[in-house]
Amino acid sequence: MTLKIHDTLSDSLQPVEAQDGKRFRFYCCGPTVYAAAHIGNFRTFVVQDVFRRVLEVGGIPTMHVRNITDVDDKTIRESIRSGKSLSEFTDFWADKFHRDCEALNLLPPHIEPGAVAHIPEQIEMIASLVEKGFAYRSDEGSVYFRVESFPEYGRLSRVKERELTTDSAPTDADEPDRESMADFAMWKAAKAEDGENVWESPWGPGRPGWHIECSAMAVKYLGPSFDLHSGGIDLVFPHHENEIAQSECSTGQVFARLWLHVVHLMVDGQKMSKSLDNLYTLDDLAERGYSAAECRYALIAGHYRKHLNFQFSTLDAARGNLQRLARLQERLPAVEGEPLASKGTGRFQGAWEALEDNLNVPKCLGEVFRVAGEIEKNPESATEADAMGLACVLRATGLVLPELEAATEAPAEIQELAEARAQARQEKNWAESDRLRDALAEAGWQVKDSKEGWVLEKL
Ligand code: AMP
Ligand code: ZN
Repeated sequence: MTLKIHDTLSDSLQPVEAQDGKRFRFYCCGPTVYAAAHIGNFRTFVVQDVFRRVLEVGGIPTMHVRNITDVDDKTIRESIRSGKSLSEFTDFWADKFHRDCEALNLLPPHIEPGAVAHIPEQIEMIASLVEKGFAYRSDEGSVYFRVESFPEYGRLSRVKERELTTDSAPTDADEPDRESMADFAMWKAAKAEDGENVWESPWGPGRPGWHIECSAMAVKYLGPSFDLHSGGIDLVFPHHENEIAQSECSTGQVFARLWLHVVHLMVDGQKMSKSLDNLYTLDDLAERGYSAAECRYALIAGHYRKHLNFQFSTLDAARGNLQRLARLQERLPAVEGEPLASKGTGRFQGAWEALEDNLNVPKCLGEVFRVAGEIEKNPESATEADAMGLACVLRATGLVLPELEAATEAPAEIQELAEARAQARQEKNWAESDRLRDALAEAGWQVKDSKEGWVLEKL
């Protein structure tokens, strides 16, 4: 297994290996459960899923932890607005998230801790930081991390190059009691608008900040030092920078060795996000007739280090490509046992290597279809190794193939159009054959030519 990924911390390609030689341990920042996750959020979760699958098909067992953010400003505000308790409200959206994950064929993480259930661990970490002088309690009863006390601060995001000055630091009108504008809250003193969502602590009643939950839960389940941490690119600063500061100052050890960040899903040049009101959920796509499998295909079809612009045409293309993969799989011998790259990948070796090369899914799919073309031309050439290779790629990308649409399903008038087109082609009447091809397309059918003649496929 020679998987390499782009590591944000070193800004370079790094080999992905389990530090303990046994199990690759990684943490992904999970969803904030106050609404349905949009497909931009899912781009990040699907890429993380492909990452895990490539490791597993490559023969490296994983330990995958992903949290649920079930307390923050938004969950509190929206739960109060809906008249439900915080836990009733967040349970509802966490269930919805899990159903969407299942539809997208995401492997469930091995551990999925929630922030509210880990408040004692967060308090413990904050207390250790206060004790060591990395944090302080304000007069209002909040606790802040003292950024100045951690000279390494900014290494991940290179934020010092962007000059973290009083002017550029995130301003928070709620937090006027910080020593410095760069400091961030780990414990937030209770406010009237928090309602009953308040917990006791050594610093008075309040609730944890967002960054401390990931530090406390990652360290609890993966240990002070683990292999990789991941999230969308917007989390690099301040969230991940703050996680590093809290964790490393508390444990005295390197937090995550590698950092994997997924670039955003965009809509018309802007990040897909709730605040811009330009989002699509899986339900929105289902209403327009697109399946979760087509969505998954579209989300991985672009490289994770590049912006991906959301377009319905990508989903249409995904539909055709999944059908073609389903037909390809039918032409190949059945695969015995679990797909593992070590069992051989036949002509799909190039596709597999593309995955190992910084999760290059677009290149992988290009290779798959190149080999598909060879096999379509010469079905007898397909070997068991080819079948294993395709199975490995499908398992690693997590693509779920649809039921094959029968080519014979075409009604008589469509068959007639296709025959007329073949006739026109034989007569080299290209204008007529193009006209008939367009007429077929309008009726929802695509005609494909091959050595043996033509086949009709539903668009
Ligand atoms: P949230 O539920 O807001 O905490 O976000 C969950 C995950 O989705 C985080 O890793 C975010 O960085 C990621 N994310 C948010 N918007 C996008 C987007 N448009 N494209 C890709 N990832 C995103
Ligand atoms: Zn996090």
